Amino acid sequence: LIFALSIWSCNPESNLKGTDSDRITLKVDSLLNIMTLDEKVGQLSQYSTLWQMTGPVPTGGTEQALYQKIKDGRVGSMLNVVGVKEIRKAQELAVEHSRLGIPMIFGLDVIHGYQTIFPIPLAESASWEPDLARLSASIAAKEASAAGLNWTFAPMVDISRDARWGRVMEGAGEDTYLGCQFGQARVRGFQGDDLKSVHTVAACAKHFAGYGFAESGKDYNTVELTQHTLHNVILPPFKACLDAGVATFMNAFNTIDGVPCTANLELQRTILKGSWGFEGFVVSDWNSIGEMNEHGVVANDKEAAFKAIVAGSDMDMEGNCYSENLSELVESGEVNIELINDAVRRVLKLKFELGLFEDPYRYCDEEREKKWVNSPSFKKSAREIAKRSIVLLKNENKVLPLQKKGQKIAVIGALATDKDSPIGNWRAEAKKHSAVSLWEGFTNKIGTENLSLAEGPTYVQKEIEFVDFLNYNNSDRRGMTEAINTARQADVVVLAMGENCYQSGEARSQTEINFKGLQLELLNEILKVNKNVVVVLMNGRPLDLSPIVDRVPTILETWHLGSESGNAIADVVFGDYNPAGKLPMSFPRSVGQLPLYYNHQWTGRPHDNETVFSSRYTDNEKTALFPFGYGLSYSSFKYSDLSLSSSTLHRGGTLDLSLSLENTGDYDGEEVVQLYIRDVVASAARPVKELKAFKKILLKKGEKKDVVFQLTEKDLEFYTANRKWEAEIGEFEVWIGTNSQEGLKASFRLIEEDENLVI
Ligand code: BGC
Repeated sequence: LIFALSIWSCNPESNLKGTDSDRITLKVDSLLNIMTLDEKVGQLSQYSTLWQMTGPVPTGGTEQALYQKIKDGRVGSMLNVVGVKEIRKAQELAVEHSRLGIPMIFGLDVIHGYQTIFPIPLAESASWEPDLARLSASIAAKEASAAGLNWTFAPMVDISRDARWGRVMEGAGEDTYLGCQFGQARVRGFQGDDLKSVHTVAACAKHFAGYGFAESGKDYNTVELTQHTLHNVILPPFKACLDAGVATFMNAFNTIDGVPCTANLELQRTILKGSWGFEGFVVSDWNSIGEMNEHGVVANDKEAAFKAIVAGSDMDMEGNCYSENLSELVESGEVNIELINDAVRRVLKLKFELGLFEDPYRYCDEEREKKWVNSPSFKKSAREIAKRSIVLLKNENKVLPLQKKGQKIAVIGALATDKDSPIGNWRAEAKKHSAVSLWEGFTNKIGTENLSLAEGPTYVQKEIEFVDFLNYNNSDRRGMTEAINTARQADVVVLAMGENCYQSGEARSQTEINFKGLQLELLNEILKVNKNVVVVLMNGRPLDLSPIVDRVPTILETWHLGSESGNAIADVVFGDYNPAGKLPMSFPRSVGQLPLYYNHQWTGRPHDNETVFSSRYTDNEKTALFPFGYGLSYSSFKYSDLSLSSSTLHRGGTLDLSLSLENTGDYDGEEVVQLYIRDVVASAARPVKELKAFKKILLKKGEKKDVVFQLTEKDLEFYTANRKWEAEIGEFEVWIGTNSQEGLKASFRLIEEDENLVI
């Protein structure tokens, strides 16, 4: 035992030969050799705690039991323990009191910030600048790791096409390519270049897989998926995270083909750990192993544990299935010990990589916590990222930008003074009501001389975080008259509308994605006295804007922008920043269009020249109100002269596509130039269009630039009818333009390597 202990606890300067990874493998194996079966199972069990570790030792109950479990070496990880003091205390139980002193890893949902809060991920993706996501994730990691954490359950890379699903706020939207770019950036931001740095945390790509396809957008609902969609749409962002080095994966609550992801051999063993070669570990979602009982695919927890471990679920989050059953399953010969060893190896490997064996308290430094958590130095980035996430949807008569002087501006709406909703959902350790409200942002920018404020009727009757139904105010009209009078006296009205932060997020699906409470009535009344209305939207998902879109000149989508929300909105509204965001999800004309996404397949029916028997509706358009990729600027951009370096691309070759982009407006500004392709004839029906590249280009007013993209065979690959990733030869159409529906068009052929020579 002493010999083994000396190997695995040896310091990194030891004489062991080989690469870092060889050294870690050796240490893991020698540790594994001296672990009892129960200790091994302990490494695969994760628990949260709702009691304060630093308080008096609990006596009796589950808390006492958990204390004891840690001391018995039967807990490998904890979640939801926060702050250096608490984490140190918990770690001490494991390190000082358990037989082998194996440190725990501590995880939390640090999704869009720890205490400095950044825009919700959906909003951040509207920037089309993955580098911003990398930056915000790196700051979140710096704060979280300074607060003792070393693992975040992010990024969520679930593609979703249904805005009724409350968790669309947490992902990058409807598009796979954009999802890949943002997923990778977030992984790189959280993990940095070196997992061992005390300023980074291990990331977790979730939820593997298909969770964003919950039928009818109802969270936790059944998922119906074809292999085609699974491989072409859902899996690529996970693979992209893996390519960026993501340390862990989380599986999903849902089933695929009737098999819960937690028990899904095909997903976890064949694909993830098999063909993709993932060497990290898979954590279950919250009791998703135990929930297999609810799926009706196991008779009890023991069966659930069996199915999950066989399928490659390595760690049981907040369930007792592994802890209570795995040892017995091994002892009875039902589960091969090698399955357990493999899972434990993966967990221990990460602990070594994080440096926890060298110093289990390396993340527990109160000085660092004081210095970095909510450091004022992060505010600048939070504001910068927030303003770059804003999307201008409509700006008739150039109402925006507003003047800083000489215009009387009425700020109206309960959301305008709301300091909490901009923090959004998944707020980690953000202080409640800590965001800069829209009103504060405006007064910071131009003082109060030309501003007036009226909140109007309250939005929700009571602010409640977890309720079955949010309690919207549909009848209390107090504040309405004052708001109308304020609007009447102003030159322009800025009306904040949308959702509060409890409307979107986990378990917050909705049948209507509309304006709740008295918001529309307030708008109607205001329009009777003042037509010059700028609607500032605050929301966590695409909304049905059809009741307002033709009635107001200006709509600015600001999502839930985080700690610096109001300042960022003011930067855009008053023209200090020219908005350049583009929608990462389609905005529908009616909730009845959902799921709605631009890259749907051809239907076999005429698409461009519609007939009665085309795939369409008889009571509404089939197109989005605002399509994927859409967003305006205070300036305007002209696309021209698209040219291709050749009419053919041969396998292994490259094709250059260039065009000219001119800023024809009155402001300097940025434009996200988007490239879409269509595979005209393929072995399986391909999308009408697919995003394959984009570039955000800064142009001074009047400036003209050449923009060049390069395509290779790789960009044309898909999961074919032959169930292989490959590009099929033939014709491709390509569009380059300002959104998914407008663009200059060309075409080329993908040919075999030597086809050109033959010709
Ligand atoms: C969510 C996960 C989250 C976990 C831990 C679950 O309910 O689906 O995304 O990481 O809880 O908080």
